[in-house]
Amino acid sequence: MTADDIRGVDFHCHLDLYPDFPANIQECERASIATLAVTTTPKAYQRNEALTRSTVHVRAALGLHPQLVAQRADELGLFEKLLPCTRYVGEVGLDAGRQHYGSFNQQTEVFTAILQLCAQAGGKILSVHSIRSAGQVLNLVEKHLPLERGRVVLHWFSGSASELRRAVELGCYFSVNTAMLSTPPGQSTVAAIPLDKLLTETDGPFVQIAGKVARPGDTVSLASTLAEKLGHDPEDLRSQLILNLQRLLAVS
Ligand code: MN
Repeated sequence: MTADDIRGVDFHCHLDLYPDFPANIQECERASIATLAVTTTPKAYQRNEALTRSTVHVRAALGLHPQLVAQRADELGLFEKLLPCTRYVGEVGLDAGRQHYGSFNQQTEVFTAILQLCAQAGGKILSVHSIRSAGQVLNLVEKHLPLERGRVVLHWFSGSASELRRAVELGCYFSVNTAMLSTPPGQSTVAAIPLDKLLTETDGPFVQIAGKVARPGDTVSLASTLAEKLGHDPEDLRSQLILNLQRLLAVS
């Protein structure tokens, strides 16, 4: 991933869950959208890694999604084996929503192990899910992944205002999407994020924009919408997002 000449930033997209995965990668390359292709299992990461070995704008992240931990916790060994291949990790985290609460203890064990492995390795950048569990996610990050050992980007953050302040104190970044802008709590969250910690994402294909599945290129108009909602000049905000990405990627 490079920050030079980029038009948009999609820091959380499931490129491999679209029907046309390789074409999608090429679309991001052509349109110069810096895209983090997150994955849901270490097994799925392997094809992502192969397809992004020589891409300029697309990077693959090694993930173990909290919603899949109940079935896929046994892939933690593969996660550990693949971790040296990438500096990007995600989608990982916790999900205490009704459907996934049953595996919460197991999710906590897996996420703790992932944070510890990342801290040992150093220099990793993580895209983190925290549905109904922002406090617990932050407790684990604070305990296991100090700032000098890695960076956390909270994806689609839906915690409270005080949890958001705590995340900022812990040095977290936030990737925001179009769906967040469609609800009043989401809008308040977006408005409270410090400008220097803001990134954009689609979370495609799980988010729709005007009835169509979101694609990485949609982050260009998302940046303009954000500028309007936050009262900034669109070009200034675009530069800020790119600067934020550069700073994040400069983590060593
Ligand atoms: Mn996701």
